[in-house]
Amino acid sequence: MTKSYPDHKSEGAAGAELARRDDATEARKRADAPGQPSPVEESGQLVAADRPDQVAFEYAPAPESRSVVHLQPSYGLFIDGAFVEPVDGNAYKTENPATEEVLAEIAAAGLEDVDRAVEVAGRAQKEVWGPMPGAERAKYLFRVARIMQERSRELAVLESLDNGKPIRESRDVDVPLAAAHFFYYAGWADKLDYAGFGPHPAPIGVAGQVIPWNFPLMMAAWKLAPALAAGNTCVLKPASTTPLSALLLAEIIQQADLPPGVVNVITGAGSLAGAALVAHPGIDKVAFTGSTEVGKDLQRALAGTGKHLTLELGGKAANIVFEDAPLDQAIEGIVNGIFFNQGEVCCAGSRLLVQESIADTVVERLKRRLATLRVGDPLDKNTDLGAINNAAQLEKIRELSDAGEAEGAIRWSPSCTLPSKGYWFAPTVFTNVSQVHRIAQEEIFGPVLSVLTFRTPEEAVAKANNTVYGLSAGVWTEKGSRILWMAGQLRAGVVWANSFNRFDPTSPFGGYRESGFGREGGRQGLGAYLDV
Ligand code: NAD
Repeated sequence: MTKSYPDHKSEGAAGAELARRDDATEARKRADAPGQPSPVEESGQLVAADRPDQVAFEYAPAPESRSVVHLQPSYGLFIDGAFVEPVDGNAYKTENPATEEVLAEIAAAGLEDVDRAVEVAGRAQKEVWGPMPGAERAKYLFRVARIMQERSRELAVLESLDNGKPIRESRDVDVPLAAAHFFYYAGWADKLDYAGFGPHPAPIGVAGQVIPWNFPLMMAAWKLAPALAAGNTCVLKPASTTPLSALLLAEIIQQADLPPGVVNVITGAGSLAGAALVAHPGIDKVAFTGSTEVGKDLQRALAGTGKHLTLELGGKAANIVFEDAPLDQAIEGIVNGIFFNQGEVCCAGSRLLVQESIADTVVERLKRRLATLRVGDPLDKNTDLGAINNAAQLEKIRELSDAGEAEGAIRWSPSCTLPSKGYWFAPTVFTNVSQVHRIAQEEIFGPVLSVLTFRTPEEAVAKANNTVYGLSAGVWTEKGSRILWMAGQLRAGVVWANSFNRFDPTSPFGGYRESGFGREGGRQGLGAYLDV
């Protein structure tokens, strides 16, 4: 089956031909990840070795221009409305994970810098932002949202450069959702008295917010927007490998003319700046998104301090497909569930539970679909999977995948060409997975799917709940009653029905058990920033 896409072909036949030749040469050169069938060349086209009837689609490269982003050689900390050099910190480099190119030098905050950021946030909260009428605060938040929309292309390209995610996802998911959070919470700012939290809910004070590298801008928006709407001020610490979009957001906040000190962004190491921030006596509320390991440390460190705490941690979600499911949609849902954002998603559907009667069909169709995924340049608009964010994460994915093979699961990846520079991992499916395997229990946080089977709904529930996590789940079936029954049985904060990885600012998101506690999004997300 050969498919052609006139739109892309029209972008330049000569370019397409060169790209095709490059691809083919690369594919021949490359010793791929272990266990991968090699692509073969057939009448000038790449063909998946295990599907000789299926020709990989040919697209001309369609790179998004990076000229819209104006990278500075170095970035300071954003404290009290201005970018400043660290007082007692130093600097480190952030790189493009797709090429290992250094993008910029970033300030690493020291203890004095953290002190200063928390102090100005405390002053801004008491003197300016807290006393300000909600309707006035709303105007600032609406303004931030609008500027984010105006600068959306810049935000998307920068996010893809620093994180490695495909531009299609940063452009169509991360940036619009981040702006939508500001719009949504702006609407709440003057309605707090009617939000169901009592007659006059008060802001908590200064929020110390620590976020991970997988959705840098979106996580910043999830943290900042509700906190600010509720009258708190913020000190935000982005992950050290993805500081750039938070710093651009700081610039947008400056452009929106927020009073100095209301939002502060301190960059640097989690073990130093992050730990100092959450432990700081001037912080009243800690909101953390990241690994379960660090989340547990924070909970221990904050016990007895009286600080408010919400934790959004890891996950090992089950995506459950019943035999009556609409299979075409389910295949897309499985792909979206685990390969969106290279699987670096806390709520990723990393365990596929498929009813035994259709397991072979689903796996076969899934493999066929995966053979069409394009892994490569994050800035190319055709790319489905970009780069893994950092070397340590790639190592973790490799280690767990090797453990899967060693424990007896069967590993499969489509043939695909991985660039020689940067951090890359081919989409991978494990079958013959048992519940005790590490790949069925531990969060891999990469493009790796473990397939398990079940016979009855009860068995599906038991297997889905057989995890220390409890963040999300998906149910694919034609039966509404089964969806409702399953949703009641699954121990997960979010259950998607005939869909997966759908987010909306109006909808609360969060986990149970080792996935953390507290909710972000919706009215519940607002409550996490109010003293009620
Ligand atoms: P991480 O825990 O290593 O780091 C998260 C953030 O915490 C970073 O900013 C880091 O610098 C900081 N940090 C590290 N050590 C710290 C310490 N001792 N004190 C204070 N801050 C510290 O996690 P990561 O590798 O950046 O992110 C991946 C993890 O995040 C995965 O486990 C994923 O499931 C989780 N995650 C959860 C959600 C959710 O909503 N539940 C969303 C995204 C990511």
